[in-house]
Amino acid sequence: MTRILVVVGAGLCGGAAVQALRGEGFDGRIVMVGAEPHLPYERPPLSKEYLRGEQDRDALFLWPESAYSENDIEVRLETRVLALHPDGPAVELEGGERIDAEGVLLATGGRPPLLGGEPSDRVLTLRTVEDADRIRAALDGAGRLVVVGAGFIGAEVAASARGLGVEVTMLEMLDVPLVRAIGEEMGKVYAAIHRDHGVDLRTGESVKAVEEDSGGDVVVIGVGIEPNVDLARDAGLEVDDGVVVDGRCRTSAAGVFAAGDVARHDHPLFGPLRVEHYDNALKQGAAAARSMLGRDEVFDDPHWFWSDQYDVNLQVAGFASSWDRTVVRGSIEDLDFAVFFLRDGVLLSVLGVNRGKDVRRAMKLIAARARPDPGSLADQEVDLRTLVPAS
Ligand SMILES: Cc1cc2nc3c(=O)[nH]c(=O)nc-3n(C[C@H](O)[C@H](O)[C@H](O)COP(=O)(O)OP(=O)(O)OC[C@H]3O[C@@H](n4cnc5c(N)ncnc54)[C@H](O)[C@@H]3O)c2cc1C
Repeated sequence: MTRILVVVGAGLCGGAAVQALRGEGFDGRIVMVGAEPHLPYERPPLSKEYLRGEQDRDALFLWPESAYSENDIEVRLETRVLALHPDGPAVELEGGERIDAEGVLLATGGRPPLLGGEPSDRVLTLRTVEDADRIRAALDGAGRLVVVGAGFIGAEVAASARGLGVEVTMLEMLDVPLVRAIGEEMGKVYAAIHRDHGVDLRTGESVKAVEEDSGGDVVVIGVGIEPNVDLARDAGLEVDDGVVVDGRCRTSAAGVFAAGDVARHDHPLFGPLRVEHYDNALKQGAAAARSMLGRDEVFDDPHWFWSDQYDVNLQVAGFASSWDRTVVRGSIEDLDFAVFFLRDGVLLSVLGVNRGKDVRRAMKLIAARARPDPGSLADQEVDLRTLVPAS
């Protein structure tokens, strides 16, 4: 009998997974089912180059169509998986088809929560390329953009809109923007960057309702995402702010795996963690694929993400929920620095502003649970690669 593997979700993670399945030599049927009408495409440009009109739609795609046909990957677009049956497992597609499979990967990502109703022409959220097109169209001719929520997506949309010459007000419920992702001190650095670029940033503002009026304001709601856990929850799988998976991306049901934005992964370095990062979607998707093929491999990538706002490039690697020491290399004032977060001497995370090289190099230290000398971390003359402990 032909072996069948199904990937639910044709986003970045699903796209990475199907290519890895074939790349690892699986010669049965691979079926990827995606609710959107597109092959897997990159979302990061949607708040950056694509939103500003600097990148074409064609350049968003992860792989060309031929990469799927040549690898004999069956792609069902504009098709939703309506149910997962964990025994088997099997999936039920919109239209009634049922596919019994040897393994199912949930790569269903997340969706922006609605704040008091459906989006309209002038009250918008951002997840898909169509969302980006709507925001772009609304910004042409907008009197002002109001961004609700100063997380990464909100802050990037604000920066892009300023680049297009649009007036921007950004409202953040907490006292500091981006605080959940990068902490209070670095969040304050970003507050100053936005204000320096003319954004009317108002913090400590809780939005109770969004109402349309006759003015020309456009509202973009950027308050994060909810993971698409419905299939897993309805099938009785363990869910806790994401589909719970072990180190190998295995859910609580045999033969069912999850990865990417939807997965709460038991990370060997950081513990249970759900992240919403491009790099993780690709790497974890490929790791889950190997796991589906029975490889005995714990996914232990130390995580990495970036954000571009104005001409400021932020990169973060690792994860630290708490720390007892920070070390700065470079100059915060000149926006040319890296901050290292340590606990009990162990380097957990690094944040770099216009310091990609240091962040990349520090990843090896984080992966090795290294205890680097703080003086050497601070010393710009020291190449971080020399601090990696010999294994
Ligand atoms: C505007 C924007 C900017 C970003 N910028 C950055 C950045 O600068 N740096 C960074 O590291 N990360 C960034 N990200 C995050 C990054 O894009 C995500 O982490 C990544 O897209 C997650 O991939 P995924 O495949 O897990 O989920 P998604 O990309 O959300 O894909 C999931 C897919 O599954 C589909 N789906 C859901 N349910 C079903 C179902 N039942 N049946 C069929 N299909 C289904 C969805 O329609 C979707 O197409 C950004 C995200 C956005 C939206």
